Amino acid sequence: MRQQIRYTLPRLSLVALMLASQQLNSVYAYACKEKIIVIGAGVSGLAAAKKLHDEGCDVTVLEGRDRLGGRIFTSQVGDLTIDMGASWIHGIGKGADGLKEWENKYNPLYQVTLDNKITTLATWQDEGDTESLYFWYKGGETTYDVGTVFKNFENSLEDLQEEADINTSLKDLYSKYDLTKKTSKGDAKVDQNIKDYTLAYFYGFEYAADADQLSGKYIDNDSYFFGPEHIFPDGYIQIPKALAKNLNVILNQKVTKIDYSKDSVNVITENGKVYEADRVVVTVPLAILKSNMITFTPQLPKSKQDSIEKMGAGLMDKLYLEFEDVFWDEEADWLDYISDGNVKWGITLNYYKYTKKPVLLMFNIGKDAREFAEMSDEDVIKQAMETLRTMYPKATDYVAYKRSNWSHDEFARQAYSFVKIGATKKDPLNIASDIDKKIYFAGEHTNFNFLGSAHGAYISGTDAASKIIEDYNSNFEQSLVSNFMYLRFAF
Ligand SMILES: Cc1cc2nc3c(=O)[nH]c(=O)nc-3n(C[C@H](O)[C@H](O)[C@H](O)COP(=O)(O)OP(=O)(O)OC[C@H]3O[C@@H](n4cnc5c(N)ncnc54)[C@H](O)[C@@H]3O)c2cc1C
Repeated sequence: MRQQIRYTLPRLSLVALMLASQQLNSVYAYACKEKIIVIGAGVSGLAAAKKLHDEGCDVTVLEGRDRLGGRIFTSQVGDLTIDMGASWIHGIGKGADGLKEWENKYNPLYQVTLDNKITTLATWQDEGDTESLYFWYKGGETTYDVGTVFKNFENSLEDLQEEADINTSLKDLYSKYDLTKKTSKGDAKVDQNIKDYTLAYFYGFEYAADADQLSGKYIDNDSYFFGPEHIFPDGYIQIPKALAKNLNVILNQKVTKIDYSKDSVNVITENGKVYEADRVVVTVPLAILKSNMITFTPQLPKSKQDSIEKMGAGLMDKLYLEFEDVFWDEEADWLDYISDGNVKWGITLNYYKYTKKPVLLMFNIGKDAREFAEMSDEDVIKQAMETLRTMYPKATDYVAYKRSNWSHDEFARQAYSFVKIGATKKDPLNIASDIDKKIYFAGEHTNFNFLGSAHGAYISGTDAASKIIEDYNSNFEQSLVSNFMYLRFAF
């Protein structure tokens, strides 16, 4: 009888302990006592670090550059504040298309602006509502109804996707679509230009890649936040700065090695400094993972390496031109240029409309952006001005400019990521998965639903932090249980 009591009590208390720990876990997490290193002070790294710091973890952020923000980079042209990387919060309303978990919740970046009283400026309600002018490469405005061409494409997209496999590019998909019968009034060459332009204009600029690289199967399968699109009159950098408040961020720390072969993880920088941590969050861009700038010991699992290889690191570059006065249509949002057989300078944003400063923002993507990346500022601007003069023969000379060159940026080497032909929506997920609950991954490239966006990066960072807290808590519970077992058998 005595023996029975002796065995029953511990069993009951063990169950009680487990239940209590689960209960505790759901009410509040155990205070995190771990040392965590986050690599990268872009929006994903800072979002992860902030959440972990708020949970009480001992967090250090190591950043290779001498500044915060990564692909969020605020600069100036003349006296106007501009952004060379991300410009927009895409959708400041509540809820995201098809995603229940965001019902009644704001885009988290918009939430950061509200919490930190950061001013934003509306550009348009929805990209579909923008005022666009289309210019034909031979000069003058085109008579083609590009909007309808796109609508027709879009309406047949789902059907076409059903027949597509993972190696079908967006371009392949549309080669099956007979555009000429529907809207064209011109010859076959002209139709092809419209078609190339439409693919580049509506998809290429969104995904920073050419149509022959984009997965036809997975294009347009991602989500978006509802509501108007806003920019930052005083720069997007306010978001990383707000997230970094109270965090320990060490700049100029280029990480070259991560050794996770032992219990703790060693993070080693180019100048030989060794940082030790219980867990590490890697948020460097996809192109950096592809480049092997960082050596992992042991090597990354083969399936993760394959997914890194398969996903596309897209390129988009910006050129801001300031003029003495406005010579273009003041009311248009976009001045769009349908070039001959390529998509160079396909879209130009009329910055004057929102800022009342005579500034245009011109973009290039994919192979055109790669071509321009190798050219001098002078040559790039010469081509841009030729395009503007085709659109507006009376265009005056520029007075100031600022140009991005993201593929030459040591710590980015890309703009944003896309699902490339051959990849699937599982690849970003696979890149995000942790290794041995020690190495975690975040960054825009790990979030299929919001691939390529600043809010996608933010969400990937908070997801990685939640996973760490969950893993920490389950470790903690396990050690509570095994300590209890040890005590039980010791007595
Ligand atoms: C031209 C352009 C326009 C864009 N427009 C928009 C837009 O309008 N709206 C939008 O939502 N998104 C836009 N984006 C995308 C958005 O900027 C990115 O998705 C987002 O900023 C990525 O954040 P991240 O944290 O994943 O990566 P990053 O911001 O790149 O952060 C990663 C950090 O890791 C650091 N790092 C790299 N290697 C190392 C190393 N070895 N050691 C230490 N640190 C290292 C980098 O310096 C960087 O700070 C745009 C991007 C570009 C380039």
